[in-house]
Amino acid sequence: MAVELQTYKSETKPDWCPGCGDFAVLNALTKALQTLGIPPWQVLVVSGIGCSSNLPGFLSAYGFHGIHGRAVPVATGAKLANPELTVIAAGGDGDGYGIGAGHFVHAMRRNLDITYVVMNNEIYGLTTGQASPTSEREHRTKSTPEGVIENPLNPLALALASGATFVARGFSGDVKTLTDVMVRAIKHKGFSLVDVMSPCVTYNKVNTYDWFRQRVYVVDKEGHDPKDRMAAWARASEWPNLDMKRDRVPTGVIYEADYPTYEDLEPAYRHGVPAKQKLGIADPEDVLKQFF
Ligand code: SF4
Repeated sequence: MAVELQTYKSETKPDWCPGCGDFAVLNALTKALQTLGIPPWQVLVVSGIGCSSNLPGFLSAYGFHGIHGRAVPVATGAKLANPELTVIAAGGDGDGYGIGAGHFVHAMRRNLDITYVVMNNEIYGLTTGQASPTSEREHRTKSTPEGVIENPLNPLALALASGATFVARGFSGDVKTLTDVMVRAIKHKGFSLVDVMSPCVTYNKVNTYDWFRQRVYVVDKEGHDPKDRMAAWARASEWPNLDMKRDRVPTGVIYEADYPTYEDLEPAYRHGVPAKQKLGIADPEDVLKQFF
């Protein structure tokens, strides 16, 4: 179905800082939905808390701005109720890989057909620049004035270990690759992680656009086979890693596999889409009377 790009645009304009990487993510997501011909009324975008979690407000589709770290469980509930919706969870690295890490892992092993876009700027932006789960060692932030002493979480490796069936990375400075990755992620049947290196131009003065431009490369251009799980491990391990090797940052589709989704296996769906089933209550007044 052909849909004008304008149809996806909200009347509310993004209030991100000029140059924030999240603008590119919004543009790529919008373009991907249009490319796939998915109209806004068949799309739900769920977010948590953070600068990037304001994204649903800037898109003219169904949206739900949840609480911190809870984008994925809300998206899970919505998808379970109406598997016919295209459900996208969106948020930042602090939201998804920190407070929401438990939900993140279990959603991946369930393999629901959800796309999770994480705008990873390696810092807490909304709270003005504290270290996040993906900040690298030695990074000096407001909360780590002498440098981070913990190791950064590797989202792609965690996704592979947790059973995600589509694992990818994009970069806000390469909108074309990011859009291609989003198209493939949304098309994929199963849980898709798109980790986007989305620079915070205000609070992260280390991992800037230039920093990434010197390091990112697209795995497709090196003949990477996303069906090869061991090759995917090797790419995912390139960065971040314990050795602090940071000369190559892989982007593109790292892993893609066909496995049954949660929806394929859930017996309740034999009766059809839950959101479209009758409640089975002859007279709602009878139910209400039980409470009064
Ligand atoms: Fe973007 Fe950082 Fe500004 Fe937040 S503080 S809107 S992440 S540039």
